[in-house]
Amino acid sequence: MSCVVILGAGIAGLSAGYHLQQAGIEPVLYEKNPRWGGLCDNFEVGPFRFDRFVHLSFSEDDYVKKLFTSSCAQNYHIPDPVNYYKGVWLKHPAQNNIYKLDVAEKIKIINDFYNRKPVPEEGISNMEEWLRLQYGDYFAKNFAMKYTRKYWTCEACELETSWTGSRFYLPSVEEVLEGAMTEDTPHTYYAKEMRYPQKGGYRSFLTEMAGTLDIRTDKEVTAIDPFAKSVFFADGTSDSYEYLISTLPLPEYVKLISGLPAPVELALKNLKYTSGVLVSLGFRRPDVAKHLWFYIYDEEILPARVNSPSRKSEDNAPEGCSSLQAEIYMTPDQLEKADLTSHLESTIRSLLDMGVFEAEDLMVKDARKEQYANVIFDHDIYKNRKIVHDYLDQVGIAYAGRFGEWEYFWSDQSLLSGKHKAEELVKKIKKSCVNGVCG
Ligand SMILES: Cc1cc2nc3c(=O)[nH]c(=O)nc-3n(C[C@H](O)[C@H](O)[C@H](O)COP(=O)(O)OP(=O)(O)OC[C@H]3O[C@@H](n4cnc5c(N)ncnc54)[C@H](O)[C@@H]3O)c2cc1C
Repeated sequence: MSCVVILGAGIAGLSAGYHLQQAGIEPVLYEKNPRWGGLCDNFEVGPFRFDRFVHLSFSEDDYVKKLFTSSCAQNYHIPDPVNYYKGVWLKHPAQNNIYKLDVAEKIKIINDFYNRKPVPEEGISNMEEWLRLQYGDYFAKNFAMKYTRKYWTCEACELETSWTGSRFYLPSVEEVLEGAMTEDTPHTYYAKEMRYPQKGGYRSFLTEMAGTLDIRTDKEVTAIDPFAKSVFFADGTSDSYEYLISTLPLPEYVKLISGLPAPVELALKNLKYTSGVLVSLGFRRPDVAKHLWFYIYDEEILPARVNSPSRKSEDNAPEGCSSLQAEIYMTPDQLEKADLTSHLESTIRSLLDMGVFEAEDLMVKDARKEQYANVIFDHDIYKNRKIVHDYLDQVGIAYAGRFGEWEYFWSDQSLLSGKHKAEELVKKIKKSCVNGVCG
């Protein structure tokens, strides 16, 4: 029997484990993959390394920054994203950098921005309304709502708005006018600096936490019995626990816990999220990637965003080479049926047409599926999430991380979520455990 069992060794699970260990408690972590890291992990295609999605750190939390700094040497980048729209490259954010668009389109954007309606007294009811009120109808319809379909895999009107926070830049009239007349505009991206490990990919930020933890890999949890306090694994083994912290995605509980109350099962099935296909490309030229990442608005082009691992760190590509990774979002149902070869070939064709690289530059190519990308903030998310969380509280399963808390967490927030759950447990556990053994 293990006193504390942690399920999942992504950044949240590692953080929960590390902070328990700091308090003198030795947890056991179980991870289904062959190594720790979760979404912060990476994979290799030939001599190239690719993270699982873009991953750069822009945390403003001093504690997280210190932990990351103590883990590895870092590169520092000033974010310089650009946007691709109907054959034209625009600086980011697009709305205050419309200089290269034709005059008729600029006029529509400026006119509708200037004539935005005031926020209604009863408040904003969905994301489409929010986008129209913030950006004006033309830009909302032709840029933001199209990108919403590509990134969130649904219509903007299906989303609520409280998650938006500082994620969208809201320009002034002066900024939009300036960006229509000149290309020489200031950078206004919400993060001023982005950090990335010099070696080993984003995962290297987690090495201090992984440290000496007891992490058992290749252990896929197939069932949890919260009443018998036991977890069961695909290899036929099991473990029992006194305390459990789980960072597994909430929808997985449908398969993992038998005899769920019907309302809980329904709420779990109604939690919506996006999945993704990652198309990773390595080039035999050093200068293919001009930017850390770029966005693509055109809906006939599959990827919503393309990032460059080799710009994040030269350690991600062999000498004289560079790399790109395109992110294609879809619903979990679409992912199940997705044909990786056709996504790979379609993405390559689009990037060639966009002039991003020449066919003879390509050295390696890879396409793979990611089941969990973003939690979708539809109108029922809070109701469904509460039903699930209340149930987990009742049966003594503490939940942490992006998919345990079911939140739009960056890696620093997932880390802090794991820390928080560890701190809550420490108080209870200290009384009954000595050296990880329950009394
Ligand atoms: C598209 C995208 C871009 C992102 N970009 C950034 C960024 O630039 N900067 C940033 O800070 N954050 C970024 N994030 C967010 C960041 O990836 C997450 O906040 C963080 O990695 C979540 O960590 P976690 O430990 O909560 O979850 P995960 O990393 O998903 O960890 C959960 C772990 O549980 C394991 N697991 C699942 N099921 C089982 C099972 N049955 N048995 C055993 N183990 C299991 C998984 O293998 C995994 O290791 C991005 C996320 C996405 C999707």
